[in-house]
Amino acid sequence: MARFVNIVFMQGEEADEVLDKLERRDAECSILFHGATEESIGEAFEYLRQWDYGDDDDIRDELGAGTHDKIEREDGYVLTWNLGLSYVGLMRELVTCDECGATLEDVGAACRDH
Ligand SMILES: [Zn+2]
Repeated sequence: MARFVNIVFMQGEEADEVLDKLERRDAECSILFHGATEESIGEAFEYLRQWDYGDDDDIRDELGAGTHDKIEREDGYVLTWNLGLSYVGLMRELVTCDECGATLEDVGAACRDH
């Protein structure tokens, strides 16, 4: 079972800075985007991972991505964004015990009984 740790969620101007690079906004025409590439997606992952301090305190059961959001996965991280709604977010996948919800780090003594 996978749950997700909310690492960072940006909206509005803050998100636009990331989205401009991610979706490659045209240098001359501000409404033209050239679209995300493997490289620009990789850079977005790298940039947003800065907010991962290793804390697992904001855990979600679902990705919470809308139907029109774009989703990419890399090395256990999930990047979601929506250019039209000006938001971008990063979550980290957390592997948890189906029985008790313990995270991988806590799995052990308690999980041996079920
Ligand atoms: Zn367990």
